Amino acid sequence: MYAELFSGLHSEPGRHLKKVFAEEYDELVLVRDITFNSMCEHHLLPFIGKAHVGYLPNGKIAGLSKLARVVEEVSKRPQVQERMTHTIADLLHHELDAKGVVVVLEAEHSCMTIRGVRKPGSITITSAVRGLFLTNQSSRAEVMSLINRK
Ligand SMILES: [Zn+2]
Repeated sequence: MYAELFSGLHSEPGRHLKKVFAEEYDELVLVRDITFNSMCEHHLLPFIGKAHVGYLPNGKIAGLSKLARVVEEVSKRPQVQERMTHTIADLLHHELDAKGVVVVLEAEHSCMTIRGVRKPGSITITSAVRGLFLTNQSSRAEVMSLINRK
């Protein structure tokens, strides 16, 4: 079971982004609601949620499923949600040379719901922003509104 849950421990998720397609499209690409489950490395209890991954291409695009594969593989390690968010954002930024990257993760942490403070239903949201989204407020507002849209 642990071999499965930690199958991403020694892998290099960036390899999923090595195969790209040349494309002039330079508008937003966003894959929303990528479900994941990971393991909190402090308590060895699962945290389960959704990832939203967006980027602004720079002459090349990755297969959409590859974004989900990156999330999946990064989740299959002892993790903290904060680092998981950063790792995904940096992978996209570097491997795709993306002009901008936004990653938002929302998850429920068992270590907060079944023990300790015991607050079922509480959701932890983390976001990492790279490149153009750091300086361009309207682009950032657009992607955040698409992520938050019901
Ligand atoms: Zn924990």
